[in-house]
Amino acid sequence: MKLEFHCDGFQPVLVGWAEQTVRWFVADLGLKNNLIFELLGREDGTGHDGTATEGGLVEVVIDGAHAYPYLWAVNPKCGTGYVNNVTLIENAEELFIYLAAHELRHLWQWENKRAASTLLRLMKMTDETDADLYAIRVLSAFKSQ
Ligand SMILES: [Zn+2]
Repeated sequence: MKLEFHCDGFQPVLVGWAEQTVRWFVADLGLKNNLIFELLGREDGTGHDGTATEGGLVEVVIDGAHAYPYLWAVNPKCGTGYVNNVTLIENAEELFIYLAAHELRHLWQWENKRAASTLLRLMKMTDETDADLYAIRVLSAFKSQ
């Protein structure tokens, strides 16, 4: 697999760290398909955003003016199954880890459709719950390093 990492406007001091973190997720999830990861530094709505497409494009946006601590919660209009009001995010690094882990877990779900659908069925959860649970687990591991 090939990873292209682009950054525009994110905190310069964190760019190298962010790319290494994405590489860690790629290895942890065993992702095989090519991936383009875009990290942007300005978001007009909530101050952060994340999207992933099955073609392997992931976009994470974190506004430099985002307020912390932030209790992870997604607008109900965005879908069901998010694990809201559980995870306290204390800075931009933690928000990046959460968003990147969540979006890259969607790539894992698409690359491993049988395993993912079995997991979602047995655990009676949505793809968003699975992505949030992965993000919570990974963020917890990073915090305890
Ligand atoms: Zn999601």
